[in-house]
Amino acid sequence: MSIERIGVVGAGQMGAGIAQVAATVGLTVRLADVDRATAEKGVAGIVKRLGREVEKGRLTAEERDAIAGRLLPADGLADFADVDLAIEAASESEGLKKRIFAEMDGICRPGALLATNTSSIPITRIAAVTSRPELVIGMHFMNPVPVMKLVEIIRGIATSDATYAAVKGLAERMGKTTVLARDMPGFIVNRVLMPMINEAVVALYEGIGSVEDIDVGMKLGTNQPMGPLTLADFIGLDTCLAIMEVLHTGTGDSKYRPCPLLRQYVDAGWLGRKSGRGFYDYSAKG
Ligand code: NAD
Repeated sequence: MSIERIGVVGAGQMGAGIAQVAATVGLTVRLADVDRATAEKGVAGIVKRLGREVEKGRLTAEERDAIAGRLLPADGLADFADVDLAIEAASESEGLKKRIFAEMDGICRPGALLATNTSSIPITRIAAVTSRPELVIGMHFMNPVPVMKLVEIIRGIATSDATYAAVKGLAERMGKTTVLARDMPGFIVNRVLMPMINEAVVALYEGIGSVEDIDVGMKLGTNQPMGPLTLADFIGLDTCLAIMEVLHTGTGDSKYRPCPLLRQYVDAGWLGRKSGRGFYDYSAKG
């Protein structure tokens, strides 16, 4: 199954990163969001980031222009009729993802693959709203996509071997290493990572340590590149909360209960780097 033309839904942190890396390795990418203006903003952001790579001498201006030429802002999903693979990277909401998959199923040509970048929602449940569950798969990129080497691949109960092989091959073409996870809440990475982040928020909530002390403690004490609260700000606190809720409801186990302080930050609109404030204040950093 050859994949040359892809569609990406969601031009946020993840969708833009996926589109950037895919266009860099030569794929043609249609990028869609809630409207064309948002998709265009997503493409402009990618081109700006590529410009910084040119300044650092990691990319030539000609290469940047060639990559930009392969990034096509879409007028919604209607532009996805000719793609070989659509990757959904819209917000972490099951209802939203199901609506997008039902729509993509109606628009994408028969035989086109449909992947989701969900952090935690069951692939089998998303696939069930389509007429092609054997062609639906989880393709979980890490943030920031151009930097992080892993793609966690999740097969739904009906995903075919050919779909898995095609998506694994594409991830490798994009320079990534893959791991295979069963379709259980949180898969591998977030099943292990999110309870640690949630527990760091509990430690803050209970006054066990300050934001800085929790982060420095975990960074230097357990040899992680950044502390868990810094990482939560990178991921987005809304995304962290949504994943904890999926773990909690999906397993029925109270050990996954989201920390009330995490919920309160999200209620306040303090979503991390993307909103300018989370556990840290980014408003002065632009
Ligand atoms: P984000 O908030 O940066 O971007 C989400 C984008 O989806 C926004 O641009 C929004 O306008 C768009 N969107 C919302 N409704 C839409 C619709 N109906 N049609 C088209 N676009 C729509 O979020 P993100 O961090 O990029 O996360 C996107 C997905 O990737 C989520 O499923 C998340 O769980 C997953 N993910 C996130 C991370 C992370 O570290 N942030 C890592 C791996 C996976």
